[in-house]
Parts: sequence; C-alpha cells; structure tokens
Amino acid sequence: MIVGAGQAGHALASTLRRRGYADPITLVGDEEALPYQRPPLSKACLIDDGAVSVALGPAEYYETHDVTVLRGKTVIRVNAGEQRVELCSGEALPYQHLVLATGSVPRKLAIEGVDLDGVHMLRTLEHSSAIREGTQNADRIAVIGAGFIGLEVAAAARQAGTAVTVVEAQTAVMPRVVSQPMAHHFADRHSREGVEFVFEDVAERLVGENGRVVAIETRSGRRIDADVVVIGVGVEPRCELAVQAGLDVDNGVVVDHRLLTSDPHISAIGDCASFPSPWGAGRVRLESVQNAVDQAACVASRLLGDDGPYEAVPWFWTDQYDLKLKIAGDISGHDETIVVETGRPDSFSVYCFADGVFLGAESLNQVPEHMAVRRILKQKTALSADQVRDPEFSPKAHAR
Ligand code: FAD
Repeated sequence: MIVGAGQAGHALASTLRRRGYADPITLVGDEEALPYQRPPLSKACLIDDGAVSVALGPAEYYETHDVTVLRGKTVIRVNAGEQRVELCSGEALPYQHLVLATGSVPRKLAIEGVDLDGVHMLRTLEHSSAIREGTQNADRIAVIGAGFIGLEVAAAARQAGTAVTVVEAQTAVMPRVVSQPMAHHFADRHSREGVEFVFEDVAERLVGENGRVVAIETRSGRRIDADVVVIGVGVEPRCELAVQAGLDVDNGVVVDHRLLTSDPHISAIGDCASFPSPWGAGRVRLESVQNAVDQAACVASRLLGDDGPYEAVPWFWTDQYDLKLKIAGDISGHDETIVVETGRPDSFSVYCFADGVFLGAESLNQVPEHMAVRRILKQKTALSADQVRDPEFSPKAHAR
C-alpha cells in the first residue's frame, strides 16, 4: 500500500513490477491526475502553453501492470495496530507493508493578503496552469523567494515578456543551496534578462483592491506593484499521517538507513522522509526527483528481499533560461570553492570542499562533467583541492 501517487509513489510501484514483485500494489493519491512529474511545472509548462506532457506513465500502464490507483482519495488515518488505512471516502484498506510517499507542501507565508486573487504557490498541475494564465495576462509579477522555484518562475515570466521583481530576505539568490560563484552567475543573468531583485527585505503585506492583489509592501517600506504574486519560500513535509499513527517525526517522517520508520511495517520515501545520509551531516530530508526515485528503488529492493542501506549519491538540477545547472553531492556546509572554467560562455564548474574534504560540485551546462563527479562520489575516489586546481584536472579522467 503506497500513500501518495507522486514521483516516489509511482517509482516504487513501477520498480516493484519491473523487478517481478507479484503481490497486489495499491497507490492512493489525493490528486485527480494520474502520477505526474513536477519539475516541468515551473519550467516548460509555464512557457509552452500547457502542451507539455508531465505524466509519469501512460494511462494504461497501471492496468496492464496490475497496479490499483485510487485517485482523488485522501488517506486520513493509519491504523498501525490493525495494519489498515482509512480513506476520506470511508473505506478501510488492509496492508502488509505501508509506504508513506506523501511529499511536501509549499510553506505558507503568515502575512496579510495571501488569500487575495492573483497570489499563487506552486506544487501541482493546477497551480502551474493558474500561474501560466496569470502571468500571460499580467504586466508585472512579483516573486517572493529567490530559491529554485522562484527563479524558475521568474525566468519563465521574463521569457513571456512580463516584468518581474524578486524579493529575497537573504543577500543572494538560491541562498544556502548553491555556492557563491554560482549564485552570482545566476543573479547576473537574471538581472541582464530584466529581473529586478530586492535583497535583504521581506514581504510584510500583500495589498489588494477589489479582492485582487496589486502590490507587495515590504518591511523596509517599499511598495512593489504586481498583478500576480508567486510565493516560493520552501516546502514542509507532509507528516500528518505519520504523526497520527504515532511514528517518530522530526522535520519529516523519521526513517533509518533502510528507510523504515519506527514501525517495521511502514516505510517512508521522497520529500516526506528524514533519513540518515552518508553524504551530509547527519539526518537530512531531500526534495529532489533523484531522491524520490532512488529511495523508491531502495524500498523495492528491501520488499524483494535485498536489505541494503540507502546511500545513493544525491543530485539535483535546475533550468533557468538556457542555464542548466546540475549539482552532485551534498554541498551544504562547504567552506572552500574552486571554480573550473571551460572557456565557453555560461559553462563552468564549482567544486565544493569542507575542511579539505570534497563534498560535490555544481556543473553549469556540462552534463558529462556532472556525470563524472557523480562517479567520483559514488566510487568514493579521494579528490583534493590541489588536484582540482591543477590546470590538467579532468573529472572524467579522475573518475575510475
Ligand atoms: P510528490 O511528487 O509531491 O507526491 C506526493 C503525493 O502524495 C502528492 O500527490 C500528494 O498530494 C499526495 N498525498 C499527500 N498526502 C496524502 C494523503 N494523506 N492521501 C493521499 N495522497 C496524499 N526536483 C528536481 O530534482 N529537479 C527539479 O528541477 C525540480 N523542480 C521542481 C519544480 C516544482 C514546481 C516542484 C513543486 C518540485 C520540483 N522538484 C524538482 C522536486 C520534486 O518534484 C520532488 O522532490 C518530488 O516530486 C518528490 O516526490 P514525492 O513523491 O516525495 O512527492
């Protein structure tokens, strides 16, 4: 029984079937759509007028592979003692093993005006369509938060010719998640595309007229006029079922190195799972397609009798304009960066170290280098800052 028919839930069902799991699989999701991928929602879907297909599998896949999909159904209760889940529709379904793949929800801003028309957050297909329509009919949009999603929305809006202002509380874009050189490069490109940044300021109130947003007022007293406001200030894991079931929860559903919760009949994967990472400092929760898919594969292996730890190399990507950034490893907490130029415009890497230990690298418009860094991390090949500084350094040659 998989609760959450998103990236991780779909990956688990399809991996189990591909590897020969013969028992019944039920995938329960509270959205009406069949499982779909979210990355295009803040990229191609905002630009290409809804022509982009986001489905994770063809509609007939679930029938032909004997996966029961219950759509538009919220699981409201887990009865762990009796190994049953209860749906909003009143049904109770038994499970032998339950996997929570409930994802995350956009963090809400507790400020006046967030319920006005024209104010959006971005998680679902419906949100993406609403932002696309709103942006196409807007002269000016404002984005709160210069994280990955906020900047992808800003890039899409600029490509549609809409004026964009981004308000960010920190001093740089994508704070804490990319290195300073990479953040500079992206901020510079956005500025050249016409995005206006307001750093070190905070949206304090959304101003409305006749029920529709018209401006943001910031703590410093600025007024930013906007026909549409998109809030992108991070997400929170959906842990309500885990809390209700009495499982350990701490910034996510707490799982062990095999992704098992404190109940041996319940696993958790994807955005909602807080796991002990061999790549980061202690327990982490990752919000990425890689993590959702690889954690699904780890649980599938366990359910098929191969009980190994979860230790996949974390990686992530973001696309803004023609800038395709890929990050391999967990680079949070780095204290040293080395920029390796390729000589081509918009193409370089940043290698990140902490206390001289290689953590990972960001690769801009360089897929082969990114793949090589992933191999270096996976093989645990030692890599020093001096080796990276060597003008002859090549990650492809260094990866075994
Ligand atoms: P989800 O895909 O969110 O699926 C969880 C599902 O569970 C949802 O459908 C939810 O409604 C459902 N659910 C929750 N509770 C219940 C319940 N009680 N009963 C029934 N159903 C329930 N990652 C990248 O690596 N690169 C990117 O470029 C990138 N871009 C992104 C852009 C956007 C706009 C968004 C929103 C995310 C992006 N991500 C990206 C992140 C990535 O999509 C997520 O990490 C991934 O979807 C996580 O998968 P998941 O299955 O854990 O959660």
